[in-house]
Amino acid sequence: MKRFVFILIFMTMTSLCLPSLIEAKTQEDNFKERMELYKKTATVVKLPWYYLAAIDQYERQIHKEMQKGRITAIQPEMVFWNGLGNPESGEKLKPQMAEMFEGWAEDGNGDGFADRTNDEDVLYSIAQYLTSYGYNEDDIKIALWNYYNRDLSVQTIMNNARVFKKFKTIELTDRDFPLPLGANYSYRSTWGDARGFGGRRIHEGTDIFANYGVPVKSVTYGVIEMKGWNRFGGWRIGIRDIFNIYHYYAHLNGFEKGVKVGDVVKPGDVIGSVGASGYGPPGTSGKFPPHLHYGMYKDNGYSEWSFDPYSYLRKWERMARD
Ligand SMILES: [Zn+2]
Repeated sequence: MKRFVFILIFMTMTSLCLPSLIEAKTQEDNFKERMELYKKTATVVKLPWYYLAAIDQYERQIHKEMQKGRITAIQPEMVFWNGLGNPESGEKLKPQMAEMFEGWAEDGNGDGFADRTNDEDVLYSIAQYLTSYGYNEDDIKIALWNYYNRDLSVQTIMNNARVFKKFKTIELTDRDFPLPLGANYSYRSTWGDARGFGGRRIHEGTDIFANYGVPVKSVTYGVIEMKGWNRFGGWRIGIRDIFNIYHYYAHLNGFEKGVKVGDVVKPGDVIGSVGASGYGPPGTSGKFPPHLHYGMYKDNGYSEWSFDPYSYLRKWERMARD
């Protein structure tokens, strides 16, 4: 009973808060202004702009709200900013004062102060910190790990950087429906339904029924994070997007030729086809009617949880139709 109540609260929480959270975040996007800021800082520090954009993009997802008057979301820890044991505990201090305590606070806008609530100061300080490790991908990764202490955070930021680098922009608002609209398919909201295999887990996703071989497309921009066989999901692919959302495509008949882990994808890129694989050892197929199982998992920098993709699918279907 306790567990049931917990699941109920959790589901209500995620279904109510999460879509509004995502919508609210996108409203705060000032793509052009942000891009100018990344590029300006990047030029001074000689670091590619997309690393700064990638960190900002990551932090946009982990803070409940942005600091007032700011267009970037990076909020450095006090200990990073002022240094350990610094008697100065305010948001704003002389950079020399931070340096004495091995803090990273720098003055990016030339006003003589390092202000933890100023976009230019924060970006410049972070960029200085990163480049203190070096300029190649591995150096950046180590710097990020020492800053966030979490593999998934590092991976998500590096993914973001690769997506921004490839498309040369942070304005990536297109989406697509995972199946061609011309195909014969059907789906309904199946979130939370009981499932017959794998214990008492709830159904974390939406099943889109279609024929064998119908192409399956990426719904968003992102990086292929996982590809292979899973006992429940069969042949499946996982794509992490720039909003820390992991998109899970299961029961595939097969993968699109050439698709591999680490590939950067965009909405509409074919990744595989509809099948009925899964519920057994590798190669098992046909234990249920062919369908695409599509799931969404959100990461907030601390933990990951699934939420109902149904309303998003309906929305992307409308977008694809227009
Ligand atoms: Zn399913």
